[in-house]
Amino acid sequence: MAQESFDRRGNDLNDFFLEELANSGCSAERTGRLVLAGVIGAVGLVLLFSSKATTKSCPFCAESIQLNATVCKHCGRDIPPPNAPDTA
Ligand SMILES: [Zn+2]
Repeated sequence: MAQESFDRRGNDLNDFFLEELANSGCSAERTGRLVLAGVIGAVGLVLLFSSKATTKSCPFCAESIQLNATVCKHCGRDIPPPNAPDTA
C-alpha cells in the first residue's frame, strides 16, 4: 500500500514537470530557470556551511547558538567553552 501511494506521488511529480516543460516552450527560458535554481541551491549550500562554521548546538536544549557563546540564548544555561581549563 505504501509502495502504491509512493508511485502515485511520483507520477504527479512527473506530470508537474512535463506541464512545466510544455508551458515554458522556449528552451532558453528553461535553461535560465535551471541556472537560477542551481545558483539559488549553491548560495543556500554556502549559507548553510558558513552558518555551521559560526554556530553550534546547545548541549542542553540543542538549539543553534554562537560558537563562542558562554550562555545559551534559548535556555539560558551556561555553555562550557570548547577549550575550558580543568580548573573550572
Ligand atoms: Zn540551550
